[in-house]
Amino acid sequence: MTTLGVGGPARYFAVAENEADVAEAVRWADERGLPLFVLGGGSNLLVSDAGFPGLVVQIAIRGVRDRGEGRFEVGAGEVWDEFVGRMVTAGMQGVECLAGIPGSVGGTPVQNVGAYGQEVAETIVSVRAFDRKSGQFVELDREACKFRYRKSLFNTDVPERYIVTRVDFQLHPFGQAQVTYGDVKRYFAESSEVADLRNVAYAVRKIRHGKGMLIVEGDPDCRSAGSFFKNPVVEAGRLGEVAAAAAVGEAVVPHWPAGDGQVKLSAAWLIERAGFGKGFVDGAAGISSRHTLALINRGGAMAGDIERLQGRVVAGVRTKFGVGLEREPVKVG
Ligand SMILES: Cc1cc2nc3c(=O)[nH]c(=O)nc-3n(C[C@H](O)[C@H](O)[C@H](O)COP(=O)(O)OP(=O)(O)OC[C@H]3O[C@@H](n4cnc5c(N)ncnc54)[C@H](O)[C@@H]3O)c2cc1C
Repeated sequence: MTTLGVGGPARYFAVAENEADVAEAVRWADERGLPLFVLGGGSNLLVSDAGFPGLVVQIAIRGVRDRGEGRFEVGAGEVWDEFVGRMVTAGMQGVECLAGIPGSVGGTPVQNVGAYGQEVAETIVSVRAFDRKSGQFVELDREACKFRYRKSLFNTDVPERYIVTRVDFQLHPFGQAQVTYGDVKRYFAESSEVADLRNVAYAVRKIRHGKGMLIVEGDPDCRSAGSFFKNPVVEAGRLGEVAAAAAVGEAVVPHWPAGDGQVKLSAAWLIERAGFGKGFVDGAAGISSRHTLALINRGGAMAGDIERLQGRVVAGVRTKFGVGLEREPVKVG
C-alpha cells in the first residue's frame, strides 16, 4: 500500500468511506488503547520493518462537488492526480503544475504539496477534519492551516491530531496557466506548443517522467517516496562555508532566499557533491538513476536498507558541508 514498497504489516486495518467511519475508527482504537495511523495514498511513507502495532485507517472518502465560480469541495480520498486532470480539462487554473503527484487529495494539505512553482496552499481555502482532541469535525481556514514549505498545522504543531475528510479549493476559471519554474519555461521555449492549462500539465508530467517522479508501472526509479530529503534552510552566512567546502564560488552553489536572513540550499546538489550521485547502489536500496533526491527500493529492499542509505547520505553531507538534511517522508511504526 505504499509507493516505496517496504515495511511490515498493520496489526489492524480499516477503510473509511465516510465521516462516520472515521469517527468510528477513532473510537474503536481509543477504546482499545491502540495507536492509530491515517493512510492516504501511501506515497510519502517509510513504514518500519516491524510494521504498525495499531489501527491503520485508509481514507477513502470520495466525491468532487462543484460549488461554482471555481470553488470545489473534494473528498480526502479522491486521487490527487485525477482531480488535477479534471480541473485542467474544466479550464480551472491553480493546480496545473501539480500534475503527476501521487497520493490522495487529503494528503496534500499535510505537507503543503508543491512542485514546479505551485503549492496547494495557494488554492486551498479550507480543510474539514476530525479533531481527535475534541472528538468533533472542524473546518480550518487557510490561515489556521499554517502552511509553509512542506509544512502545515497537520504535520507540525499537533501531528496526528486532525484527520482530513474534505479539502475545499478556490481555482481560477479560465485563468492563465502558470509558467514560472525554470524547467517548465525551458520546455515551452523549446516547443511550439501554446502554454495553456492542458499543455502545462502535460509538460509537467513529461518533465517528472524524465526525473522518475511519475509513477509508471514497472519503472524501478519510481519505487520511491518521492523526494526523500527536504531542501535545507540555513543562515545566509553559511553559504560561503558551503562554497568553500565544495571548492567553488558562492554563485555556483544553488540557493534561494528563504526570508529572515536565511537561504534555501539544494539538497540534491549537496548530496551529489558529497559523493552520492544518481544511480548510487547500496544493496537493495539505491538512488534513482534520474533523480538524486529519490531513494529507491531496487527490488526486495527492507525498510532497514532504505534507512541505512538515508543514514549514509545524511552523514556524508554533514561531514562535507556541516549541513543537516531532514527526511521528507513520514516514518510509520
Ligand atoms: C514519485 C513521487 C513523486 C512525488 N512528488 C512530489 C512533489 O512533487 N511534491 C510534493 O510535495 N510531494 C511529492 N511526493 C510526495 C507525496 O506524493 C505527497 O506528499 C502526497 O501528498 C502524499 O499523499 P498521500 O495521500 O500518499 O499520503 P500518505 O503517504 O498516505 O501519508 C503521508 C502523511 O499524510 C498523512 N495523511 C494522509 N492522508 C491524510 C488525511 N486524510 N488526514 C490526515 N492525515 C493524512 C499520513 O498520516 C502521513 O503522515 C511524491 C511522491 C512520489 C512517490
